[in-house]
Amino acid sequence: MILFKRAGDLTRWLDQQQLSGKSIGFVPTLGALHAGHISLITISKRSAGVTVCSIFVNPTQFNDPKDFQKYPITLEKDIALLEQSGTDVLFLPEVEEIYPDGTSGLERYDLGRIESLLEGKYRPGHFQGVCQVMRRLLDVVRPDDLFMGSKDFQQCMVVQRLIELRDMPTRLHRCPILREPDGLAMSSRNVRLTPEQRQKATAIYQALLAIKLGWEMGQPSEKELTAMAMNILESADFRVDYVEIADAKTLEPAKEGEGPGSIALIAAFLGEVRLIDNMMLPD
Ligand code: AMP
Repeated sequence: MILFKRAGDLTRWLDQQQLSGKSIGFVPTLGALHAGHISLITISKRSAGVTVCSIFVNPTQFNDPKDFQKYPITLEKDIALLEQSGTDVLFLPEVEEIYPDGTSGLERYDLGRIESLLEGKYRPGHFQGVCQVMRRLLDVVRPDDLFMGSKDFQQCMVVQRLIELRDMPTRLHRCPILREPDGLAMSSRNVRLTPEQRQKATAIYQALLAIKLGWEMGQPSEKELTAMAMNILESADFRVDYVEIADAKTLEPAKEGEGPGSIALIAAFLGEVRLIDNMMLPD
């Protein structure tokens, strides 16, 4: 694996790879890697000639300063995991490399309604930060294919919008959520849970499963389903930001009895740790 710290060096090296006919696959991350991240690398390696992973804890996407300060950093382990997975390139920039003119006065993006819904509503400014870093990373790496996880479902929609706004040739692939054996979605933030919280955390998955089951039976109303999920979460000591059944194309609340293309999404805190998860609902 080749490690690049400078954006210019990486762009020049990748240009050569593209000239020799290789396609570029890209997996951007915040580090503290786990099997979910590695699954994206594996998917990229199936089709891309060169797979690039970036590790950069982007300060502009953290609306909560405590979350930024406490974001886990496990660089040595990350490098070992990337080596094992056959990643070709690791891009490990400093903040100055990504934001040479500083982090204030950065471009703002017209994301439309999506920015005021769900994560956008509860994490003001978060998606602007995501776009700022993704725009820079995509300009540096210029990937043919970009691999992101559907755990961050709304983030995938925002990045797709960025790609369209900037008329970029990159194809975004939304990849499946990897889960622990008890169903908890893998997340870098899971290591911040106490053993007791870790046990309770599986309630997010159980709440999503309960919604899915009720949805399949077509019985309780959506209101009742979200209330039931809320109960499951609160019984496990979660403080809930939202439980929503939404149209998967727009993330607007799904209309009562609406059939195909709905998704259940949850964001909730256990102690100081905020977890998100989602599940597509059967048509
Ligand atoms: P992060 O480092 O949390 O920004 O995540 C980097 C990428 O990995 C994002 O595209 C995430 O959606 C994806 N990712 C995070 N957790 C998982 C998971 N459990 N399964 C699959 N992909 C994931």
